[in-house]
Amino acid sequence: MYDVAIVGAGPVGLFLACELGLQGVSVVVIEREAEPGSTYRVEPLGMRGLMAASLAAFYRRGLLGDLLGLDEVPDVDQPSEPQGVGHFAGMMIDPARLKVESLPYRLPSPAPEAMMTSLDHVEGVLAERAVKYGVEIRRGAAVTGLTQYDDHVVVQAGDDEYAAQWVVGTDGGRSAVRRLAGFEFVGTEPMFTGYVMQAELADPGKLKSGFNLTPNGLYLTMRMDGHIGMMDFDGGAYDRSQVPALEHLQEVLRRISGTDVTLAKVGHTSTYTDRAMQATAYRQGRVLLAGDAAHIHSPLGGQGLNTGIGDALNLGWKLAATIQGNAADGLLDTYTTERHPIGEWVTDWTRAQVTTMQPGPHGQALQAVMRDLLETADGTAYIYGKISGMLNRYDLGNECLLVGRTAPEFRLEDGTRLADLMDGGRGVLLDFTGALDGIQLGEHFRYAAGPARNDLGFEAVLVRPDGIVGWAGDADRNAFEQAAKRCFA
Ligand SMILES: Cc1cc2nc3c(=O)[nH]c(=O)nc-3n(C[C@H](O)[C@H](O)[C@H](O)COP(=O)(O)OP(=O)(O)OC[C@H]3O[C@@H](n4cnc5c(N)ncnc54)[C@H](O)[C@@H]3O)c2cc1C
Repeated sequence: MYDVAIVGAGPVGLFLACELGLQGVSVVVIEREAEPGSTYRVEPLGMRGLMAASLAAFYRRGLLGDLLGLDEVPDVDQPSEPQGVGHFAGMMIDPARLKVESLPYRLPSPAPEAMMTSLDHVEGVLAERAVKYGVEIRRGAAVTGLTQYDDHVVVQAGDDEYAAQWVVGTDGGRSAVRRLAGFEFVGTEPMFTGYVMQAELADPGKLKSGFNLTPNGLYLTMRMDGHIGMMDFDGGAYDRSQVPALEHLQEVLRRISGTDVTLAKVGHTSTYTDRAMQATAYRQGRVLLAGDAAHIHSPLGGQGLNTGIGDALNLGWKLAATIQGNAADGLLDTYTTERHPIGEWVTDWTRAQVTTMQPGPHGQALQAVMRDLLETADGTAYIYGKISGMLNRYDLGNECLLVGRTAPEFRLEDGTRLADLMDGGRGVLLDFTGALDGIQLGEHFRYAAGPARNDLGFEAVLVRPDGIVGWAGDADRNAFEQAAKRCFA
């Protein structure tokens, strides 16, 4: 019997597999596709944006170099220059208006603010690491059955059965695990159908490059690779079981772009909608959900993958501690209480963009408001702060606004970084004054003392194994011991 069976070797399932493997948990990942690297996961259709909070997580697990394709991640002590950091409803954030160092609680980090990559590349990096941790990846059969018992779960995939203490469904937006385990999945129906296609245009000069918000929807062109995206406000009426014909795609593109552009050739095409839903709880007995299996929404603003990585980061250490018998009381329940509000936020964030983009005077009025805001430094900082994931904050019952957020990349005067202390998967107590010397936090936290290059006004900071600040403030021994006890028994 495995400790955990993860269903779906997408980026979220594999990130979770690494988190569990790092903690010494036995894991099998069951994946429907026989081979990785389908057309929809490699460039251009598989292109995805990773944002600051996700990249900080890759960095802290020693995975950033592989992601960036570098042997060594350069040691940076200046805020990184943000480039191409995203959009709201197709309205681009201007990096020139963004001063990352002026955002609350940000410190220079070697992890970039954002990067474009492909699902296939992310999955490759994570699968390699997972295998090093002893994770088994079984490909080529979809999970079609699931039975829960008091102390384990059995899943069926093809002719094989897998028994595990816990099952996590990371099998995407149409999750079989979600359906089989009876999760409630609620939200709103779509306003548009989205298309992504590889296409050649007879007359490319008729379209503009980049994101183009028009009175009839949005189109996006990436000239270099013939990759075109469209969002058509049809109320989600297009029958997505059909592969869209060239004539249909051309009619939609002409209507949205307001041109008579001609599609000469269309290659692979995929469709999606802005259906925005999430599971009412992320756990049913011994079955948990993460990533798109737990929440779906439109890709506007590039949040789905980033939110899923946040789920995996939050769940990994909690599930491992539960299995190993050293979790604080109720720790696993905090997976839902911490992540569900983030899922709620992300579905609302995409709904707000859909409403802003809708054709007609109401949408146009909202667009004007948003354009005005995006022309200000404060408006830009607000929107960017949100999509970077760095403003996400769990309510850990502390008024300090740093507590519950991704820890800034603190650095001690001797050059040690928070990331250097975290790649073993333990939490860290940073004691900038040395006043907490001898504190009893148990084996799950490392202790590092010494003045910080920038302590942001704190005497000490407790960072949980997922890189979230569990406590920060004066060197009050009792407060830090209590915060550690809320994590581990
Ligand atoms: C056009 C587009 C652009 C996007 N851009 C961005 C972006 O820039 N940034 C961002 O953060 N997000 C973006 N997203 C969203 C992002 O792609 C998803 O949120 C992300 O892929 C979710 O990862 P996941 O691992 O949860 O699920 P998936 O990537 O869907 O992976 C699920 C895995 O489970 C497998 N599987 C499914 N069913 C079964 C089964 N029954 N048994 C076994 N295996 C199964 C699948 O084969 C797959 O490998 C975009 C989405 C789209 C459509």
